[in-house]
Amino acid sequence: MLTGENNLQLLATPKNIVVTTHHKPDGDALGSSLGLYHWLKAKGHVVQIVLSSDFPSFLDWMPGSEQVIIYPQAPDVAEKLLKEADIIFCLDYSALSRTNVLEPIIRLAEGQKWMIDHHLDPEDFAAVSYWDPNAAATAQLIYTFICDVNGDRGALTSDIATCLYAGIMTDTGSFRFRSTTAAVHQIIAQLIEAGAKNWEIHEYVYNSSTENRLKFLGYCLLNCLEVIPEYNTAIFAVTKDDLEKFEVTTGDTEGLVNYALSVKGIRLAALFIDRTELIKLSLRSIGEIPCNEICKKYFNGGGHLNASGGSSNEELGAVVNKFKSILPEYKEILTK
Ligand code: 5GP
Ligand code: MN
Repeated sequence: MLTGENNLQLLATPKNIVVTTHHKPDGDALGSSLGLYHWLKAKGHVVQIVLSSDFPSFLDWMPGSEQVIIYPQAPDVAEKLLKEADIIFCLDYSALSRTNVLEPIIRLAEGQKWMIDHHLDPEDFAAVSYWDPNAAATAQLIYTFICDVNGDRGALTSDIATCLYAGIMTDTGSFRFRSTTAAVHQIIAQLIEAGAKNWEIHEYVYNSSTENRLKFLGYCLLNCLEVIPEYNTAIFAVTKDDLEKFEVTTGDTEGLVNYALSVKGIRLAALFIDRTELIKLSLRSIGEIPCNEICKKYFNGGGHLNASGGSSNEELGAVVNKFKSILPEYKEILTK
């Protein structure tokens, strides 16, 4: 769905543009930001990407990633850019709170906010909104924004294609989630044709673990996994000490929750991580089990039906117990 279409003509002349995405960007957040960034630059705009935090090192090969401005490293520069932007793109999020420290700055900024996203329950803040909760990734929407909305398929470069491929690949779990439609595969074919080296991108993202990260995974599988068979649920609870012991850095816990879901018969998986400021929760499910409802109702979060996140200020043990205590409410759907 596209609203605010009449504003699109702003792109006809060069503008100051800032691209933003959600806190702790994942492959789709960074891939869609960089894909759009390369296209906007090629159209003659002055463009910067401003992030609220750093991103995982397994994404640092993406073309243009070295140009990204990380707010905590350059707060004054980031704030000035946002204040002076004609257009602020809001990618892969549709609630401003997901930008963490950037939220108040973006809220007060005078430039138009253009939201491109695939999350449920969008907040109403954007002058242009290109939103489709059925899209497999925001990177898919950037592709159709460039090629269909702006009719500019010819402008796809290998840099754009590479970043968008990475975004779709990571958000679909390498093209295996339910969101991976025939249309997604057709777009992927176009991206490969435009120069995305698919095999190389898989290599960069999935075969770039540090030794510590792999050992941390082994440790979690052995020590932190708990299977709750009566609810077809499996959880990981990771303490602050575990994170310190393995020198866990941004992105090292990415994908961990999927191991809990990979146990035969498991329909709901949860990962609890004791980050210093709060407990971060990731939920994954199969079928109709509503991760987003659980996160929204009990853990101050949200997301998609089968992949959501949230947080809590309570102690790790208390959060895990709270999660266990709500399982009976979903027993019927969990044991179907
Ligand atoms: P992850 O578990 O990988 O952090 O996030 C899974 C999905 O849930 C992503 O689509 C992400 O956008 C969403 N999500 C993660 N954390 C939060 C949160 O705190 N609030 C909301 N609304 N969504 C979240
Ligand atoms: Mn996404």
